[in-house]
Amino acid sequence: MTEIQNRQIRLAARSVGLPKPEDWEFTTEAALQPAEGEALVRVSYLSLDPAMRGWMNEGKSYIEPVAIGEVMRALGVGQVVVSNDPSLAVGDFVTGLTGVQEYAVLKAKHVTKVDPRLAPLPVHLSVLGMPGMTAYFGLFAIGQPKAGETVVVSGAAGAVGATVGQLAKIPGCRVVGIAGGRDKCKYIVDELGFDAAIDYKCEDIAKSLQEHCPNRIDVYFDNVGGDILDACLAHLAMKGRVVVCGAISQYNNTTPVRGPSNYLSLLVNRGRMEGMVVMDYAGRFGHAVRDMAKWMAEGKLKSREDVVEGLETFPETLLKLFTGENFGKLVLKVA
Ligand code: NAP
Repeated sequence: MTEIQNRQIRLAARSVGLPKPEDWEFTTEAALQPAEGEALVRVSYLSLDPAMRGWMNEGKSYIEPVAIGEVMRALGVGQVVVSNDPSLAVGDFVTGLTGVQEYAVLKAKHVTKVDPRLAPLPVHLSVLGMPGMTAYFGLFAIGQPKAGETVVVSGAAGAVGATVGQLAKIPGCRVVGIAGGRDKCKYIVDELGFDAAIDYKCEDIAKSLQEHCPNRIDVYFDNVGGDILDACLAHLAMKGRVVVCGAISQYNNTTPVRGPSNYLSLLVNRGRMEGMVVMDYAGRFGHAVRDMAKWMAEGKLKSREDVVEGLETFPETLLKLFTGENFGKLVLKVA
């Protein structure tokens, strides 16, 4: 077999604030050969996730930080080009932690086969992938919404948030989304069926929550933290639940993360605030994907991807997540 050249993007420095171009190093080297139990995968699409910002930091988290000089960690979907494991055939499509590179050697037991006939490949990184699983388990296992309850979700036009809102309509909840800008707010109401939207960039959030949530908030699915979390805590219903999924407003802070000042609302309302990490539910993904695929086929669930082309655009494309320029699940087309 002729040698395959593999372009990669490695972490060169730990970012302070928003990642800068010099925090990345571009390398090209020969693709590794898969050993017994492994496969060589040609990466088709990469998932660009807010969590990447946390993986770049030193210190304890739910996963080891990416080391300086290491290929940047990323979820991807791609096609098997060489297989040294009987469970994978050349031509199979798989998802896994491919990293930001064109070719990845992955252990067969660490990848999931996907069916490209079920949905286009980017959807397997979106509603049928990690963000979809986050929405499904964060909402149903932690938020536990019941018919007639009010669910509020922030980051509502994004990969996780848009899915949370649509899923909350299924058991019959009133759904209010908080997103940045008129277009995103219009989209979640007109296209996705949310009951109302709040544009946090130009509305008084507390006032709008009172208007759109007359029975207060039973479930707040938090993707952003900061002021929006505080405003939602202040409007919690009795026995309200707050799902701590993410805090994107805090990820590029150069000062310590700002905690909620309205947390005593949990005491007054006998509320609950609980964190979730999607990988804790990995054993149940198969069941959730079947549910999600069925809801997609029934027209109850839509997936929107924002696809940008070119591995080399990774440094600037990643920033779209933090400026709100992405509209839908941010995906990088590699091959
Ligand atoms: P996304 O929503 O598709 O993209 C990020 C969005 O965040 C941007 O489009 C922007 O939307 C919003 N945003 C950026 N800066 C903001 C700020 N300062 N204040 C308010 N909103 C801001 O991203 P995603 O992949 O679905 O992730 C959403 C959240 O879920 C993130 O916090 C992520 O870390 C978390 N997450 C957690 C898990 C887990 O296991 N716990 C798994 C996956 C994701 P606007 O234009 O509306 O501002």
